[in-house]
This record gives sequence, C-alpha cells and structure tokens, in this order.
Amino acid sequence: MNQNDYLWKFQEIEKSVDKEEKMLRKVTKGKEISQKIGEHKGLKSEFETKKGELKEKENVLRKLEHEHSEIEYEIEKIKDQLYGGKINDLKQLESLMKKEEHKKEELNEIDSKTLEMMEEIDAVKEEVKRIGLKGRALGSTIKDMLEERKITIEKIEKDIIEKKTKKEEILKKITKKNIEIYMDIKSRKNNPVVVLKGDVCMGCHMDLPVMTLTKLKKQDIVVCNNCGRILYLSSDE
Ligand SMILES: [Zn+2]
Repeated sequence: MNQNDYLWKFQEIEKSVDKEEKMLRKVTKGKEISQKIGEHKGLKSEFETKKGELKEKENVLRKLEHEHSEIEYEIEKIKDQLYGGKINDLKQLESLMKKEEHKKEELNEIDSKTLEMMEEIDAVKEEVKRIGLKGRALGSTIKDMLEERKITIEKIEKDIIEKKTKKEEILKKITKKNIEIYMDIKSRKNNPVVVLKGDVCMGCHMDLPVMTLTKLKKQDIVVCNNCGRILYLSSDE
C-alpha cells in the first residue's frame, strides 16, 4: 500500500467515525422515545380525568338510590293511610290517591335516571379499562425502547473506539507532510481524497489532463488541477 492508499483509508475511516458519532447523537437524543413518553403522560392524565368522571357518576347514582328509597317509604306511608281504614272523607281520599300517583311518577323518573346513570357508569368504566390497558402496553414499549437504546449506545460507543484506534494506526503510516496536505484540503472542502472514473475527477467531475494522469501513475500525491483534491488511483488497479 502506498501513501495514496493510506490517505484514502484514513478518509474512509474518518467518514465512518463521523457517521457513527452522528448516529450516537441521534440515538442518545431519542426523539421517538420522547414522543412515546409524551403520549404516555397524555394517557395518564386522560386516565385520571376518566376516573374522576367515574367517581362523580357513582356519587350521582348513590344519590338517586337514596332518593328512590325515600320515595318508596313515602309511598308506603300513603298506602298505610289509604288502606288503614281510618279515612272516611272522600276529598281526603282523592287527595291521598293523587299524592300516591304523583309519588309513583317521581319514582319512575328516578328509576329511569338510575338506569341511564348505570349505563353511563358502565361506559366510563370501559373507557378507564381501555386507557389503563393502553397505558400499560405503552409503558412496556417505552421500557423495551429504553433498554434497546442502551444496548445500541453501548454498541456504537464500542464501534467508535475501535474505529478511532484503527484510524490512529493508519495515521502512523502517513507522512507528516501528506497528512498536512490532507488536513489543509479538508479545512476547505469535503472529501479531500477522490477517486478517478476513467480520466474524470470524482470530486469536481472534470476531465483531467493527460499530464496529471501520467504524474499520478508515477507519484504518490497528485492533486486535481481544478478542485485541488488529492486524486486516488487504487494501487490494486
Ligand atoms: Zn477535481
């Protein structure tokens, strides 16, 4: 391998490290996990709201049940008066019968309200159950994602260390002068080392003069006349 090969390899590994570091930042930031955590918080608050709603409705139901027994008691009392054999006044009798009728209507109204409330309670209970299950499933997904993220981060960090070690090894093979040329180009352009396709520079896509191509076959470091990048002709070719 000549200097050109080492510079090419150095660039490749540098790019690979950059890519891994970018990936590491992305994974660490964990946009998707944050989204899921936000969703989970939303579900939790929805769950609390529904539970509050359920409690309120259960209170209403209890109140209705209480009212029901109160009215039932009142009706019993009217019946006692009606059939107790103590009334002989027709007007009083009519008035009591009217009162009984009225109380029965009230009771019907309360019973239908009770039924409605029981149905509403069942519906809210279902909602609470549904949200609870969804929340639990999401919680376990988040847990898995966090675990997976931890493993991924560890793997990327290990890869980066390995690649950096390899990069240092390659760097040792490159002369000080050549790495200076490389760094100088890198400070101005991306990909300081570019390959040739035929006689075209892949950095700027311009044809290279015959003289440059001849020089390239003889020398290690030749730069493109147009873009100034180091031209790479694999020594295997
Ligand atoms: Zn060029």
